[in-house]
Amino acid sequence: PSGMSRAPPSSGAPSTSTAQAPCGQAAYGQFGQGDVQNGPSSAVQMQRLPGSQPFGSPSPLAPVVSQPAILQPYGPLSTSAQVTTQLAGMQISGAVAPAPPHSGLGYGPPTSLASASGSFPNSSLYGSYPQGQASPIVQAQGHPGVQTPQRSATPQASSFTAPAAGGPRMPSMTGPLLPGQGFGGPPVSHPNHVSSPPPQALPPGTQMTGPPGPPPPMHSSQQPGYQVQQNGSFGPVRGPQPNYGSPYPGAPTFGSQPGPPQPLPPKRLDPDAIPSPIQVIEDDRNNRGTEPFITGVRGQVPPLVTTNFLVKDQGNASPRYIRCTSYNIPCTSDMAKQAQVPLAAVIKPLARLPPEEASPYVVDHGESGPLRCNRCKAYMCPFMQFIEGGRRFQCCFCSCINDVPPQYFQHLDHTGKRVDAYDRPELSLGSYEFLATVDYCKNNKFPSPPAFIFMIDVSYNAIRTGLVRLLCEELKSLLDFLPREGGSEESAVRVGFVTYNKVLHFYNVKSSLAQPQMMVVSDVADMFVPLLDGFLVNVSESRAVITSLLDQIPEMFADTRETETVFAPVIQAGMEALKAAECAGKLFLFHTSLPIAEAPGKLKNRDDRKLINTDKEKTLFQPQTGAYQTLAKECVAQGCCVDLFLFPNQYVDVATLSVVPQLTGGSVYKYACFQVENDQERFLSDLRRDVQKVVGFDAVMRVRTSTGIRAVDFFGAFYMSNTTDVELAGLDGDKTVTVEFKHDDRLNEESGALLQCALLYTSCAGQRRLRIHNLALNCCTQLADLYRNCETDTLINYMAKFAYRGVLNSPVKAVRDTLISQCAQILACYRKNCASPSSAGQLILPECMKLLPVYLNCVLKSDVLQPGAEVTTDDRAYVRQLVTSMDVAETNVFFYPRLLPLTKSPIEGTTEPPAVRASEERLSNGDIYLLENGLNLFLWVGASVQQGVVQSLFSVSSFSQITSGLSVLPVLDNPLSKKVRGLIDSLRAQRSRYMKLIVVKQEDKLEMLFKHFLVEDKSLSGGASYVDFLCHMHKEIRQLLS
Ligand SMILES: [Zn+2]
Repeated sequence: PSGMSRAPPSSGAPSTSTAQAPCGQAAYGQFGQGDVQNGPSSAVQMQRLPGSQPFGSPSPLAPVVSQPAILQPYGPLSTSAQVTTQLAGMQISGAVAPAPPHSGLGYGPPTSLASASGSFPNSSLYGSYPQGQASPIVQAQGHPGVQTPQRSATPQASSFTAPAAGGPRMPSMTGPLLPGQGFGGPPVSHPNHVSSPPPQALPPGTQMTGPPGPPPPMHSSQQPGYQVQQNGSFGPVRGPQPNYGSPYPGAPTFGSQPGPPQPLPPKRLDPDAIPSPIQVIEDDRNNRGTEPFITGVRGQVPPLVTTNFLVKDQGNASPRYIRCTSYNIPCTSDMAKQAQVPLAAVIKPLARLPPEEASPYVVDHGESGPLRCNRCKAYMCPFMQFIEGGRRFQCCFCSCINDVPPQYFQHLDHTGKRVDAYDRPELSLGSYEFLATVDYCKNNKFPSPPAFIFMIDVSYNAIRTGLVRLLCEELKSLLDFLPREGGSEESAVRVGFVTYNKVLHFYNVKSSLAQPQMMVVSDVADMFVPLLDGFLVNVSESRAVITSLLDQIPEMFADTRETETVFAPVIQAGMEALKAAECAGKLFLFHTSLPIAEAPGKLKNRDDRKLINTDKEKTLFQPQTGAYQTLAKECVAQGCCVDLFLFPNQYVDVATLSVVPQLTGGSVYKYACFQVENDQERFLSDLRRDVQKVVGFDAVMRVRTSTGIRAVDFFGAFYMSNTTDVELAGLDGDKTVTVEFKHDDRLNEESGALLQCALLYTSCAGQRRLRIHNLALNCCTQLADLYRNCETDTLINYMAKFAYRGVLNSPVKAVRDTLISQCAQILACYRKNCASPSSAGQLILPECMKLLPVYLNCVLKSDVLQPGAEVTTDDRAYVRQLVTSMDVAETNVFFYPRLLPLTKSPIEGTTEPPAVRASEERLSNGDIYLLENGLNLFLWVGASVQQGVVQSLFSVSSFSQITSGLSVLPVLDNPLSKKVRGLIDSLRAQRSRYMKLIVVKQEDKLEMLFKHFLVEDKSLSGGASYVDFLCHMHKEIRQLLS
């Protein structure tokens, strides 16, 4: 990646912690993500005080006073126009001639809002805000001289006056320790929230001039003294600020202003005044969760992935299939370059739909096959234009005029529309399927049904842990649930079995045999399949033999002393077996160790944490041999998809072992330090889901675009042998392919831009099909329209994938810097071209992107880009490849976890409790919280939780008796226990991988693991807090603008 090199946002020293997560409780010891639309069903967390927002507020729900009505034509969102948020102590002014705080919207005289906020209920510990209490300083404070007419093109925006410095967060208080600065108990480590007063205290004259008495809660109130705040320099406590120690260059001056010129006390940003993911999610749920999303209108931005909504297909693909970074594409590449907003689509071609929504119709055009454009080969779709009375059609992608074949002819109505348009899915819907003809099949031959081959490591480690016995027992029943199509009673999928350590054992399970027969292949260097007949069988026909085999396998290897394994030959064998059977299929590999036995694909332990933060760090993500890419290529050619279940006790080189799953559209699961008693529920849940899920095999995906843009880059689990065709040995309903587009010509506002994703695949019953998704986007000549129609969650999905691929080739720091630089450019371009004129001291964010900084910071400090001491090389490689094919909902919760307080809302409620922001400040030690990110699930118990609650949930009489690290809650017959267990079940059901529960007690050593997921806080690995990162981002933007 290229990009400007800038300092990383981190403001703290790298962690020196060497604490180790207990085995089996590693952060990535569990998984789960889902395409289920869900999100914190939070109630209003951040209600604004009425008195504090006479001119609008950051809440899109707030009435707009500050924005002329002419803004309304821009964008479908019901959110308000520009909102201005000022942050305490972040007003711009010079030290010499301090100006009153002002915003871009100048209305009325400077107002101290502290009074408007009334008193602050400050009862809870942590200095946290009472739920529903708003920051009183969220306000546009105007200055008469600043009032500026809004430009008509000004899109919705949030503006903040943020400090320009990216340095360490300053202490937020100037008074004595507040309640909540500690846990109320013995002193504990608060790595993320050290907020004690600066030892040097404050210079005279810098005391807050608020009413006497105890200081207000931190970051709760703007004090009157802040009318004359320094321009983001935090006052003199920080020492000289070369850039900001004097009046900000270019900052408007407002004449002499009241207020003392002396320096002011440090003040941190008010976390309640910066954009809150919880609030944005909540607002979208309220605004867009009630009506179905109807796809008939071009360029509509769908509801957020965290909003539950139904989709009605009226000509464009559902957002469940395709989500875009922007639904309004700049007309020219110059505009696109200026804005730096990546133009990308995250496509999930086989996404599962909620039961209320119909699966795509299957269209059968018989022997003639689907109708396509002769030139660009695009498939018939609702955007094709029929002309000449219906005898010809003009391609909407390449403008070529095509003849309509006689059998497809139909008359047009007076509007030029075919009279049968609504009878044909391909003329009226965004998504549909065609039955493919034999021309679409390999070797011009209709495919056989796919096969599943179970390949089980039976080396010492696999036997010792009980894995083999558990797996064989499970397979006996699981084989009854192989994927079926439509109403068929039985799965068409055939199965085969292989066990291995240093050698491979094939099994003949032909139905005519009384007992299974084993054939050993010890020549792993030249793998072949020793039997064809009887290896792949129908489950119901061979049930008795299969059951017998699965009973015998654990016994046969019970006394094994073999510790060495091979790996590549196992995949090779499975692929050869599918080739011999002339079918596509999937290999399920259950593997425990680094394959050190003498064989192709043999690996050595090359883990080296010393490489972190060096130029060689990238090698940790690269495969150590090219053998697996070669093997993967062969697998793809055969339609052989590989799912890998890993059970490592130590380094197994996930970066290398996951190459074949990654390139064949497969999945990797990892169960570190697997123990049957602790991990079987998780493993078996994942296995059941993985075996049963519907998969398309031997697939090719192509994305066509209308003239002017072109798909140029692709991210996901697949293989590409040319620049256009995405080859997928297998593709399941959880996996996405992300496509980036670039201009190659000027676009037209009138005609817009079109995407057509066509996926050719073999269904699990062996039917060859084409699934088509169409999406029409708007094009714009005004940058403001681009910024008004972006989707930040999708942007983050793209940027994370871009960065996670970047670490293969570039130093991690360079990758981080590129992300920061791109984000700054995106926001600076908005500021320069779209926002209303205002002081440079304000950070103004586009409404649609106001969460970009907080989410991007989460990506930057993720384990791949900034690992903590407890994160292993394998964890990083594992997460890296997981994220590659995540959908937008998965990356959203993965990077910004959901934190749900459990005892604040009524027990009887059936809905999920409102989420709170992922910060330690939001935790009350009298409460219990669930945290989930799609892979991990924690139950955090505060040290002061009521005894009754402890008893109800854990069946013990006190906090101290709760077992730390517990993974199963006792089943107790009381409302709280039922509610919490029900909620856990519901969260798990929403994710595609099972999330193992870990109970974390406040102040327990496991709490460090939990805190890692409080992503608004500074991380132990040096990742910046949200507040610090926002300041840093502001500084970057100012540099770009100056
Ligand atoms: Zn065409």
